[in-house]
Amino acid sequence: MSKKFRTKIIKLDKRQPQENIIRNASKLIRSGEIVAFPTETVYGLGANALNPTSVSKIFEIKGRPADNPLIIHVADMAMLESLVIKIPPKAQRIIKKFWPGPITLVLKKSKIVPEITTGGLNTVAVRMPKNKIARELIKKSGTPIAAPSANISGRPSPTTAIHVRDDLAGKIRLILDGGSTRIGIESTVIDMTRNIPVILRPGGISKEKIENEIGKVCIHDSLLGNNGRKLIIHRSPGMKYQHYSPKAKVMLIEGPENLVKTKIIQLSEKLEAEGKNVRIMTASKSLNVNPKKIQYMGSTFETIARNLFANLRQADKDNIDVIIVQGIQYRNTGFAIMNRLKKAASTKIDTRPKKNQALTHS
Ligand code: AMP
Ligand code: MG
Repeated sequence: MSKKFRTKIIKLDKRQPQENIIRNASKLIRSGEIVAFPTETVYGLGANALNPTSVSKIFEIKGRPADNPLIIHVADMAMLESLVIKIPPKAQRIIKKFWPGPITLVLKKSKIVPEITTGGLNTVAVRMPKNKIARELIKKSGTPIAAPSANISGRPSPTTAIHVRDDLAGKIRLILDGGSTRIGIESTVIDMTRNIPVILRPGGISKEKIENEIGKVCIHDSLLGNNGRKLIIHRSPGMKYQHYSPKAKVMLIEGPENLVKTKIIQLSEKLEAEGKNVRIMTASKSLNVNPKKIQYMGSTFETIARNLFANLRQADKDNIDVIIVQGIQYRNTGFAIMNRLKKAASTKIDTRPKKNQALTHS
């Protein structure tokens, strides 16, 4: 797609977004245009979800495959009710506990949702964001807003307005700048059309937290092992695509800490001997390599998630050829972080003895 627009970035107060800026942005949405805006997860690329022509612009700008449906963002319950046929009791409990927040519910869609928005599925994915700029924009626009992450498809999701500009300058008119996003990875997507709900994409709200609220939920097979990959295609089409990749090659190393550390040191020495510019992303403070080569990921799941995509993008700005990432634990938000890292990585190395590898997450 050619560059058509001078892209404006406008800074807003995220606690009290300036009304005139929101009003102007909502006029663009109502007139069928596209606006990038912050949510608490990542920046979104928004269009009127009920206008097929507007929604088609999102697919074109991102280079997004047409069978990858969009999440629709709502500002209140009336908007949700207009988009779906029914809200089962467990969905109501999730809404009560976690909305507004980083969890997206897949429900049976109503007739007003155009096919292009749901990639032809008879279900629709809906979320109520917590970020005030996002909420005010949806409210003022008076329509639900379809918004995938505001990046070129396949790239790491944007967590600042500058990331959006780096990918989409010239392709959109307006980026609302609300600073860095708080959570940093996308929402959890959960299919609520089943008796036992199924997590289709791990994200901002962990399985453990959801189960505390509504009892048992499943994780889709494809998220647990490579052999389930094909199964997801009909349930959450987006999950089959390569994602989150910086230009640098990403290598993910998992396993017992001592073996992983040895492997990382061996690998980085070998790659450097070949003349490669190497960076190591790790949450460990005891890796015995030159600190200049290390990008420390953080000490909690929350900080690791918040900085994850920014760290991947920074490596490109620093002309890194290979990012070696030390895997983290799969519990709580660690599961969602590892999901993103596995998708970003073109090489995954498990240092555990072969016989143990099949027993846990791949
Ligand atoms: P994105 O907005 O790019 O972060 O991706 C949205 C995710 O939600 C993708 O993985 C989609 O496949 C998934 N999704 C959206 N709508 C549906 C739906 N109706 N059923 C299942 N998954 C969906
Ligand atoms: Mg995305």
